[in-house]
Amino acid sequence: MSRTRGPRVAIIGCGFGGIATAVKLKKKGLTNFTVFEQSDGPGGTWWDNRYPGCEVDIASHAYSFSFLTYDWTRTHAGQDELQRYAEHVIDRFDVRRHCRFGVRVESATWDEEKARYELRLGSGELEPFDVVISCLGLLNQPRYPDWPGLDDFEGPKFHTARWESEHDLTGKRVAVVGTGSTATQIVPAIADTVEKLHVFQRQPGWILPKGERDYTARERAIFRRLPFTQKLRRLRLFYQFRVLYKAYDIHGKQQQQNLQKCRDYIRETIKDPKLREQLTPDYPYGCKRPVLATGFYPALNRPNVELVPHAVTRVTPKGIVDDTGTEHEIDVLVMATGFHATKFLASLDVRGTGGVSIHDTWKNDPRAFLGITVPGYPNFFMLYGPNTNGGFSVIAQLERQAEVAARMVARMRRKRLRAIDTRPSAADRWVRWVDEQIAKHTSVMEANCTNYYHSESGRNVTQWPKPHGEYYVATKTLPYVGFIEVR
Ligand code: NAP
Repeated sequence: MSRTRGPRVAIIGCGFGGIATAVKLKKKGLTNFTVFEQSDGPGGTWWDNRYPGCEVDIASHAYSFSFLTYDWTRTHAGQDELQRYAEHVIDRFDVRRHCRFGVRVESATWDEEKARYELRLGSGELEPFDVVISCLGLLNQPRYPDWPGLDDFEGPKFHTARWESEHDLTGKRVAVVGTGSTATQIVPAIADTVEKLHVFQRQPGWILPKGERDYTARERAIFRRLPFTQKLRRLRLFYQFRVLYKAYDIHGKQQQQNLQKCRDYIRETIKDPKLREQLTPDYPYGCKRPVLATGFYPALNRPNVELVPHAVTRVTPKGIVDDTGTEHEIDVLVMATGFHATKFLASLDVRGTGGVSIHDTWKNDPRAFLGITVPGYPNFFMLYGPNTNGGFSVIAQLERQAEVAARMVARMRRKRLRAIDTRPSAADRWVRWVDEQIAKHTSVMEANCTNYYHSESGRNVTQWPKPHGEYYVATKTLPYVGFIEVR
């Protein structure tokens, strides 16, 4: 460990989590870090997801870092603008020279004697680091279906997070499988290009319009010249979420109000009564991640778009077969089937004290103190870890996690510590508290629907059960008691 520059830190991933971590370290004068990114540029999820219509569904002034203002062109930024934003932030804070793009980290193994991790890179090289901060994200492992016959399909087939833009969809018969946040953006974006669009819906989601639009030149000028107006808008958005959050209580008034709004929206936009029925869920609002999509319902009214309210069960060389046994002939198959959200650190083999893999410690039930650290894995921090999804803006959540990691690295430098580990009792109490809060305040997520929140153990392992403010308070206070210092 360098006395002046502090511990040598590896940040894995240059999405918004990795960028937040790099900035927070720099703000503490900690510059002895490298950011590894397997892609050829920054942006993480916004680098991977380049499907037509890709746009964030959280308002831009909330879906951005608190430490800098930005001249957003839209209320909700599109993929290209978010990609530019990522580039802008790394250049503004001089992070690029720390980045190693196109380099994959395969494993991090704790060496107890030397009190450091050995990182194995995709090239086979080994590199030592005192601290590892994983910023791999939550929705980064595409969930490919295991339908029989999928390999035999003769046309192009791809997952939305690996969009193959070389295929011209003009005049083609296309299937989009899934009706989550991703599919509902793609459908309106390609509906007028394709000849026929089959939209496969296994279970409908509750949908509300997003309210997106371009900012006017006047609004942008005000935001630019009076940067505090951006902060005010951000505060207002976080406050509005606190009110809406009450919908997660299955018995609350807000739950009923949201259901009514969604039903009204279906009635106002969908002409065909049978289609309305097919699109109306039979479970509480918030059980699945609510979808905000303005163009989806109107697109379903088009004569060339057909909602198939069935699961896909198998694929033939020329088409796909739904669970009624009907085959639909198609030219292109788009899998909007989501991600393995509960498989935390799926692409990274982390081994802590005694060489134990973190996956063996978790046994399909991932848990972590503040969602960030795990006892027995000293000097290892993770962003967007277990039970941290939600709370409104993921960027705000990531900032809090980056702050905890940066604070601990600073503490190591200040006190000349060999290591910092998690107090097992603190981790246990944290997980118990989170489980209780989920049972009490976000009971809708445990209702009768399919969502991606539950691991094989049946526990909800992805969701943060409160608005962001509570996470803010927890991450500011609990690090005082939750860590053990090793000299
Ligand atoms: P998702 O919400 O997990 O949706 C996957 C869809 O595939 C579901 O509708 C699922 O049906 C369907 N499906 C899976 N297997 C199927 C089968 N055999 N037959 C028919 N349908 C099948 O995934 P996503 O839409 O990619 O979204 C994932 C998350 O990414 C979102 O919740 C959100 O957090 C994030 N996201 C955010 C934005 C944004 O604007 N910020 C945009 C896109 C995504 P069931 O519902 O029945 O399981």
